[in-house]
Amino acid sequence: MHNQTFYLEKLVRDNVAKLKPYSSARDEFKDFHEDMVFLDANENPYNTGVNRYPDPQQVTLKQHLSSVKRVPVDQILLGNGSDEVLDLLFRAFCEPNVDNVVTLPPTYGMYAVLAATNAIANREVLLSKDFQPDVNSILDQVDHQTKMIFLCSPNNPTANSFEAASITYLLENFKGLVVVDEAYIDFSAAESWSTQLHNYPNLVIIQTLSKAYGLAGIRLGICYASAEIIGVLNKIKPPYNVNELTQKRALERILNYESVASEINSILKQRDALSKVLLEVNYVNKVYPSEANFILARVDDANKRYNQLLEKGIVVRNRSSQALCENTLRFTVGTTEENEKLIAVLKELA
Ligand SMILES: *Cc1c(COP(=O)(O)O)cnc(C)c1O
Repeated sequence: MHNQTFYLEKLVRDNVAKLKPYSSARDEFKDFHEDMVFLDANENPYNTGVNRYPDPQQVTLKQHLSSVKRVPVDQILLGNGSDEVLDLLFRAFCEPNVDNVVTLPPTYGMYAVLAATNAIANREVLLSKDFQPDVNSILDQVDHQTKMIFLCSPNNPTANSFEAASITYLLENFKGLVVVDEAYIDFSAAESWSTQLHNYPNLVIIQTLSKAYGLAGIRLGICYASAEIIGVLNKIKPPYNVNELTQKRALERILNYESVASEINSILKQRDALSKVLLEVNYVNKVYPSEANFILARVDDANKRYNQLLEKGIVVRNRSSQALCENTLRFTVGTTEENEKLIAVLKELA
């Protein structure tokens, strides 16, 4: 399994390779001028602000993302949240009831749900005790029908980043797609894998505006990959998958990066303060280091503590049902006031 040549055409499903994409009115006519009369898309002509279909390729938004993230426009695909982007990957590359993927629990639950939805076997390889990928066990699970390996880094719910050497090893020794989910990258000291796209034709990176950018409500997920992979996903994406309101709000936020950066800064300070104080709570047995905007902590009895917090009006996530996460709670870092309330309540319960 060393230095395998990567053939994208071997990964794409036959039906996807053969299909001719839907061509929308806006795809066929793009040469937009103010004084033109658009009678091609059966839109209502009266202006509501959103009576026209949105740009199916989100060109303006991608151009700005491209300059911020330093990834060429033709290596970017946008979706209705990362969830849509992940689903597109399954539908483009995984043949139902034939292919399989590898995921590494404890991790983000959507990979398993999307695998099941698309009738794709999910081969689970547990992370090590220190929540790192076990590359040899992963490659042992891989066969000719393995199309993707999902690496969530920083990982949800464990909050740590995966060692770069492990990710590189998988990129070099697996001939399918290595999908690195970077939903929490803006909270991490680690560099985004987007700088490595030119080195690895099988690297796919997922990001989102739902966390650091504070826009979970608009649903905007991002995929960075080779222009060839992006081309395949573009063939099957719904033509108007990112609506006009979302494109506008996303662009405003990206152009106002200073406020995003200052919020990230505050969240990081709060996270580190919260981690320290959690250690002072007598029924907290372990606080895991975090490179995300949440903290995983092991307590004496997670169900009991979860319910006690709930009675006080504080909702956290009980992750105890996840592999390697017995008696853990996941705390999202809130505002200063919210965190103070959390700490006060936690100490009062002691
Ligand atoms: C929150 C989260 C996402 C974001 O999903 P969206 O659909 O973009 O809101 C993606 N991956 C992980 C691991 C997450 O925790």
